[in-house]
Amino acid sequence: MTVKFYGTRGSLPVCDPDFQEYGGNTTCIAILRKDVSRVAIIDAGTGIRNLGKDMLKGYISQDDINIAFTHFHWDHIQGFPFFDPAYNPKIKINMIALGDDRGITDLREVFATQMQSRYFPVGLEEMGAQFNFLLQDKESLIDYYDADVYTHRLNHPGGSYGYRIELEGQILVICTDVEHGDQIDEGVVEFARDADLLIHEAQYTTEELASHKGWGHSSFEQAIEVAERSGAKQLIMTHHDPDHDDQFLREIEKKCQSRFPNCSLARENVEIDM
Ligand SMILES: [Zn+2]
Ligand SMILES: [Zn+2]
Repeated sequence: MTVKFYGTRGSLPVCDPDFQEYGGNTTCIAILRKDVSRVAIIDAGTGIRNLGKDMLKGYISQDDINIAFTHFHWDHIQGFPFFDPAYNPKIKINMIALGDDRGITDLREVFATQMQSRYFPVGLEEMGAQFNFLLQDKESLIDYYDADVYTHRLNHPGGSYGYRIELEGQILVICTDVEHGDQIDEGVVEFARDADLLIHEAQYTTEELASHKGWGHSSFEQAIEVAERSGAKQLIMTHHDPDHDDQFLREIEKKCQSRFPNCSLARENVEIDM
């Protein structure tokens, strides 16, 4: 597996020049199988726009695409109306929400609402691709080879779901968005157990977290603690706060690496081979 970050920003995209190293697009993670030229997608923040363009350039060619969602806050869906393959009638798109107790009964409605004419000029039905909406407790990402995919409900306003993808002996765990509270959530530590790569959100410093209780996010220190306690081999922190510019994140990254050497902050367009 190769992971490529198309969107690393939390909450809101930023386009200012001081935010380009780590990236301004909101959450979108591509999970690539380069050997067979396929991709599966986690979340459709604004980063999915560039991923769609790469796919149409032939970077990846496939006529069925799986997009799995952690949850449906704006920063995880706002790029969807600009995902070019969704306008191609030959393309089949599986919109997937795995995990029990999601509190949604109609997944299609989530996206039809986002694209109501009051908010967007093109309706979901007019896009053109063949959509399949899958709301399931637990199932492998459809047609994603023999990967075992597990989900874990995370503490976040309205709920969010971590994904654990096990394929050919490699374990990839993605946990965003998550608020641990005063203690690290033991369930998250177990969910991330022995991950080869743990992608964990880290929106705040410890000081910032203290004044953002209930907002649904973690600190850098908490992400590192999850990695240490779960035995994760590598940690990448993402969902950068829109107020954290490149210089700020570079300094934080150095501090984090002095505690957990095999860690980094997610950078847009950077690939990580597992
Ligand atoms: Zn978010
Ligand atoms: Zn959220």
